[in-house]
Amino acid sequence: MREWADEADVVVVGLGIAGMSAALEALATDPRLDVLIVEKMPPEFAGGASRSAGNMLFLPTDLSGVIAYQRALNEPNPVPEDVLLAFCHGRVELEEWITRLVREVGYTLEIAPDAPAGVEYPDFPGASCFRYGVVPPVPYGLWRAFKAQLDRRPVRIRYNSPAVDLIQDPATLEVQGVRVREGAATLAIRGRRAVILCCGGYENNLQLHRDYFGVAEAYALSTPANTGDGLLMLQKAGAAMWHLRTPNQTGGFLPAVKVPEYEAAFFRDISFNGKSWIDIGKDDRRFWAEGRPAVFNHFRRLVHGHWVDSPLATVLPVHTIMDDACRREARFASARFGWNTAMLGYRWSEDNSAEVARGWIVQAPTLAELAVRIGRDPAALEATVKRFNDAAAAGSDPDFGRAPATMRPIVVPPFYAVPIVPAVVSTTGGGRRDASARVLTPSGAPIPRLYEAGQLGSTQSNLYQGGTFLTEAMVFGRIAGRHAANEPPSP
Ligand SMILES: Cc1cc2nc3c(=O)[nH]c(=O)nc-3n(C[C@H](O)[C@H](O)[C@H](O)COP(=O)(O)OP(=O)(O)OC[C@H]3O[C@@H](n4cnc5c(N)ncnc54)[C@H](O)[C@@H]3O)c2cc1C
Repeated sequence: MREWADEADVVVVGLGIAGMSAALEALATDPRLDVLIVEKMPPEFAGGASRSAGNMLFLPTDLSGVIAYQRALNEPNPVPEDVLLAFCHGRVELEEWITRLVREVGYTLEIAPDAPAGVEYPDFPGASCFRYGVVPPVPYGLWRAFKAQLDRRPVRIRYNSPAVDLIQDPATLEVQGVRVREGAATLAIRGRRAVILCCGGYENNLQLHRDYFGVAEAYALSTPANTGDGLLMLQKAGAAMWHLRTPNQTGGFLPAVKVPEYEAAFFRDISFNGKSWIDIGKDDRRFWAEGRPAVFNHFRRLVHGHWVDSPLATVLPVHTIMDDACRREARFASARFGWNTAMLGYRWSEDNSAEVARGWIVQAPTLAELAVRIGRDPAALEATVKRFNDAAAAGSDPDFGRAPATMRPIVVPPFYAVPIVPAVVSTTGGGRRDASARVLTPSGAPIPRLYEAGQLGSTQSNLYQGGTFLTEAMVFGRIAGRHAANEPPSP
């Protein structure tokens, strides 16, 4: 490069929790450093999934427990032991760090008193170490507190500045900087010590869901910005890729509603407590026990001793069918989490009437007419509903074992159909990283001066315990920030 448009000691890509943790730790390591964050979005929409997440933080009670539990979650697809240990050691150190950081700027870390409520796999070894915390207000208290800490430091942020490429020495692969697009210009920005990629996953890139995960459809619940840019940069940079396709979609496939007016999907509330409703798959039949499971585990089910993804992503198209009693009694989509709610302020109506009026929920006076309107076979739909109604009346679901208290016959007209899609909280694919958050080549050598943190290249490789993504973003963000700060500046 002959001309750099800007330069800094450490260049961080992305203003989510991983990027902010990296920047904070780089400065904690050496306060004299010049740290620059480049962020794709404008200030009001920067912050990624971290800004619209559930804000739940898995803060384990003890080290041996979290090591055993994380190992069990990853079990058929283990990560190198030193990476697992770095993640777990980092996690037990988080509570003190977060408590101090958020308190200094007027927020509080609240630890749930009733641990281990919220644990998703209570029978796994180490599960009793689970304990969670939140930084109110949910969902964005945590992100705001970290941002307030950044604002107290001389960290520069270039908004509307998507990174599009890494600048490398072609012979050694050493990363010298990053190329960003600002307006019509493409600018070269130098990272004297290192570049840390924290630009999230590919949740909002349907083609990559198809290419990498092999599902026909999956949608983002969070930021439209996470389109897999980091993956594409890492591939070109010569990184070994991992966790593009894990045994399970680590964060799970969640039922959601995708409408053309919004880029992200609306999350069907996991507490949706209507009773006279079912989900049907491509064959017009039910395919699972709808309703809130006794233990929420990101929609996994036990098959021959293994926890596997719900069939949601493989039985498309899916519709929720409900009657008018159900439509009136329970709000269908979450009023708290997700991009459309937390960032764009959409408030799904309590009785779903606004969404019926918008045409997002299809209405018809009879089940047969409803079937026609959504392209289903009327006789098949009527037969499915009758079978469910019989089960509800008998108080026993012979097909899927849905809890009797959650079932009531679908009989009150008009009837409704909601098209359901699989949505994800996170993707895990990215560069294979080591315990120092360095990105590795296929031969196992680190790409000099290139680090990665957060859900881009997440170390989680199979099942997911809620509260882990944010803490992983912090742990590897901190590791990357510390190591990047300690790199000698390039000549
Ligand atoms: C609805 C929902 C609820 C969730 N609840 C929880 C929870 O309770 N607990 C938990 O632990 N996890 C939760 N998660 C998952 C968690 O939020 C994410 O995994 C985590 O926030 C990822 O952090 P990150 O910093 O890696 O990425 P992000 O927070 O997504 O940040 C990525 C940043 O990079 C920017 N960016 C993208 N591309 C570029 C580019 N080319 N150049 C520059 N910048 C770019 C984005 O704009 C964004 O600011 C939830 C997710 C969702 C969607």
